[in-house]
Amino acid sequence: MNNIQKALKKYFGYNSFREGQKEIISDVINNRDVVAVMPTGAGKSICFQVPAALFEGTTIVISPLISLMKDQVDNLNEAGIKATYINSTLDSGELNKRMKDILDEKYKLVYIAPERLESVAFLDSLKSINIPFVAVDEAHCISQWGHDFRPSYRKIAGFINSIYPRPIVGAYTATATKRVKKDIIYLLNLKNPSIYVTGFDRANLYFSVLKGVNKENFILSYLSKNKGVTGIIYTATRKEAESIYKLLIKNNVKAGVYHAGLSDEDRNNGQNKFAYDDIEVMVATNAFGMGIDKSNVRFVIHNNIPKNMEAYYQEAGRAGRDGEKSECMLLFAPKDIQLQTYFIDQSNLSMERKSNEYEKLRAMVDYCHTSQCLRKYILRYFSEEAAFEKCDNCSNCNDDCEMKDITLEALKIFSCVYRVKQSFGSGMVADILKGSKSKKILDRRFDRLSTYGIMNDYTKKDIVDMINKLVADNYLNLSNDGYPVLKLTNKAVAVLKNKGNVHIKTLKVKRSLSIDNELFEILRKLRRNIAVAEKVPPYIVFSDVSLKEMSTFMPVNKNEFLGIKGVGEMKYEKYGDRFLTLIADYIKDKEINISSIRNNLIQNSINSSVSSLNDNNNIKKEEKKKSHIITYEMYKQGKSIEEIAKIREVKERTIEDHIVMCLREGMDIDAYEIVPHEYIEMIKEALDDCKEQRLSPVKQMLPEVISYFWIRLVKYGVN
Ligand code: ADP
Repeated sequence: MNNIQKALKKYFGYNSFREGQKEIISDVINNRDVVAVMPTGAGKSICFQVPAALFEGTTIVISPLISLMKDQVDNLNEAGIKATYINSTLDSGELNKRMKDILDEKYKLVYIAPERLESVAFLDSLKSINIPFVAVDEAHCISQWGHDFRPSYRKIAGFINSIYPRPIVGAYTATATKRVKKDIIYLLNLKNPSIYVTGFDRANLYFSVLKGVNKENFILSYLSKNKGVTGIIYTATRKEAESIYKLLIKNNVKAGVYHAGLSDEDRNNGQNKFAYDDIEVMVATNAFGMGIDKSNVRFVIHNNIPKNMEAYYQEAGRAGRDGEKSECMLLFAPKDIQLQTYFIDQSNLSMERKSNEYEKLRAMVDYCHTSQCLRKYILRYFSEEAAFEKCDNCSNCNDDCEMKDITLEALKIFSCVYRVKQSFGSGMVADILKGSKSKKILDRRFDRLSTYGIMNDYTKKDIVDMINKLVADNYLNLSNDGYPVLKLTNKAVAVLKNKGNVHIKTLKVKRSLSIDNELFEILRKLRRNIAVAEKVPPYIVFSDVSLKEMSTFMPVNKNEFLGIKGVGEMKYEKYGDRFLTLIADYIKDKEINISSIRNNLIQNSINSSVSSLNDNNNIKKEEKKKSHIITYEMYKQGKSIEEIAKIREVKERTIEDHIVMCLREGMDIDAYEIVPHEYIEMIKEALDDCKEQRLSPVKQMLPEVISYFWIRLVKYGVN
């Protein structure tokens, strides 16, 4: 094990690096500037925290996110790496104390807000300490073309120049277009940096778009199926956030609300309660998020479409940072497009930037309408070619919907829209169909229309929901000019003429993300008690992933406890005994035969165990094997990829993915057995020449016949 691998295990308790981490850390350690573009949740922090732990001296981390600073500093101190932060939340006594400790070089990492760089006194004082490395987090803030421009970021290059000898500089961001990347390199004055753009795919996230659903009903039904699960519901406006929040409270959901209309104190309280698991569901506008490092967010529901794919992926990406299965759902209603259009119209942007924003919104709307794999669409948007056609992990690949025939209702709605001369919105049309006696109906004599009251057996809300579905499926159009008016599309006219059938999709909420495991709950309580005593959020003590592993593997001694994901030496020293005692009590109490569990785990390889967590009784049964392990065993028995795919009734692409996964997990796969020898050198050269982590530029450099599969085999299997 080399130094950086040892540090990863010792401090963070992880056995392997995620994509890109090892290369980025190695470059920094070897005195090379880096730019790392990695999606939210991919693990950027470790890319500067591990080098900082290994370097002599104090690493400075520049971050715009005050709340995140505290989180990261707590996390580091828990892991045994001395760290602190300096920002406007400190009073002068605390500030002076911390500055003294910084100058005494007591810290490995010091987080500062960029505004601090405007203080000459602060900069001068730092000159007396050894600064080997400066990490610039959220580096896109330096560019006016990024979405969070911070003028103080422009001071960073001057700060770096003022340090002698010049430190290594690492720039980290989740979103960087070509323009922003160029700005980062130029404005930070980076010296021949290596650039890493890791894949944008977040395989543990399930993406879905739900059109024309009754949003409130959907949310309530989803939450009742996922009791106790943590999530965020994003809304487009403060008003909507408040109204959904009230709805949830009425339905006994532990909810909070967060938007820019609340006082700082209320927002901080809300954010803390969410961090401490006192609130399960946070209903919020996009003001909530920058700085949320909570790793166990299991779902993100967008009640409305956001302004663009960048915002969507960033917000949705707050789910599943711990790598566990999580869901990202977008509730699409065509009228929400008008709201986003309005926001752009009202903004102070130049004409050029406005038209850029409209274009981005268009791409966001297209995401809602596409019938292709949603993950593939997202990756393509971020200029990454997915190595699959279908991901089998989104609502377009896995159809969770039932088809319902609503021909009769649709015909009634279409005729009503036609009778009112396509001049009214859904509220009025629904009122007529329902047979409302309101003044506006009677004044206009709509009670004399042949369609008046022909749907009186439905509630008005049901009728409006149906209209929304017909709009989403493009039978009806909502005009864009101020007051949204319903128009028939050619699709509806064809139904009216030919009496064709209209089917709509209705979603079955069937998945449950709840963890039903007694020992997990016991350990969770202990974690909570420790968190309260230490004044840190529970996920800083141990992540859900660590607790899940503990409740599955049931470690009984130090060695086994250190084998749990996320358990480093420091955490073992601090908490090991307490968790081990609880686990031992549980084993005794339930008369669990621990050696039979161990045998099963060894037999089926450590990788197979976590998936069966949802059922505590499974512990006594044989652990389920992970799919790629089954593929591996068949491959080792001499079966070809084609044969395995046939036997397992899956696509060859899936088997290829399994083989690559096995290779990356260190299993015995020989790339030379699969990739034709004449191509290996060629692929290696292309990989070396192309600085980016993405494979599509590499693929483009190579002859057509060379597949992504071969490239991945060479990348991970040929040194
Ligand atoms: P980002 O800054 O890229 O959004 P973070 O650095 O916050 O992501 O990391 C997200 C989560 O992934 C954290 O909970 C972190 O501890 C975890 N993580 C990072 N690297 C690894 C790794 N190599 N193995 C397992 N978990 C990791």
